[in-house]
Amino acid sequence: MNIYGITREKLENYFIEIGEKKFKALQIYEWLYDKRVTSFFEMTNIKKELQSKLAEDFSFDMISIQKKQQDKLTSKYLFKLSDNNFVEAVLMEHDYGLSVCVSSEVGCNMGCTFCESGRLKKIRNLEAYEMVEQILLIEQDIKKRISSVVIMGIGEPLDNYDNVLDFIKIINDPKGITIGARHITLSTCGLIPKIKELMNETLQINLAISLHASNNELRNKLMPINKTYNMCQLIDTIKEYIAKTNRRVTIEYVMLNSVNDSESCALELATLLKGMNVYVNLIPYNETNHLEYKKSDSKTIMKFYDTLKKKGINVTIRKEFGSKIDAACGQLRSKEVELWKVFI
Ligand code: SF4
Repeated sequence: MNIYGITREKLENYFIEIGEKKFKALQIYEWLYDKRVTSFFEMTNIKKELQSKLAEDFSFDMISIQKKQQDKLTSKYLFKLSDNNFVEAVLMEHDYGLSVCVSSEVGCNMGCTFCESGRLKKIRNLEAYEMVEQILLIEQDIKKRISSVVIMGIGEPLDNYDNVLDFIKIINDPKGITIGARHITLSTCGLIPKIKELMNETLQINLAISLHASNNELRNKLMPINKTYNMCQLIDTIKEYIAKTNRRVTIEYVMLNSVNDSESCALELATLLKGMNVYVNLIPYNETNHLEYKKSDSKTIMKFYDTLKKKGINVTIRKEFGSKIDAACGQLRSKEVELWKVFI
């Protein structure tokens, strides 16, 4: 097992099982995430025999940075995995700190029709360590600490539930990468049973729902998942999530020209979300060469925004990051280096 994929609780259980004190897990975490050593033999407060035992039971194998592309406030990283698959992550510099958008799967099975990232079907889940290492390698590269993480890259995180949960626990651990729960956002297209599972975890993370439509008919066209879990069920589940967690939920709404950006869509959306503790994040669409959707113009986006505002819905327009390097939302690709040749 890779040492970067084990939560502190699981590591404590490991130590108990081998007859050691569970506080050793804390010591290991300090070496890994505070001192950032990359060998058990550098852990000087761990006795020699135990260092050898740990080296037998755990590896430090790393994914690697294959390529990095930069555009002002955004850097896109292409990571090579040990089985020669590739995923991407994006680093963004905000005025409030550095955030990273991580991938959770190689490919994605959800098939959202406007999404470049999902053009490659899912090959496999990412292991927790492969997500943790996206953060560690970026921090090592820029020699700075990341302050927030969004799980919004390639993949549907709730389709890789256990590994994503472990990842969140590791980065959120005060002795791990120490990213506060309120600085971690998980974005889902709406896997209802998993949202229900998530609401029973005691995590204070942010949940973002990719809604992108104001009615079932439209959502069926944009997001095949809606045929399994329709919008009415999804809205009910979001209400349940809010009641249970007391947390505000973000509604992601990508603005597609003449598809979902009309005045009537805005009014329909406002009716749907009325009285809910949510805020809507309007996302200017990032056009790609492969998909026919076009971006709504800024006047239309502003009008949509004003309509929601007038109806008492909290709404923001997402700042655009990295569209020049195809690092923007929905533009991450998973098909590997070949695709990078397009822009390197
Ligand atoms: S939007 Fe998200 S869930 Fe939908 S296909 Fe793209 S990566 Fe998958």
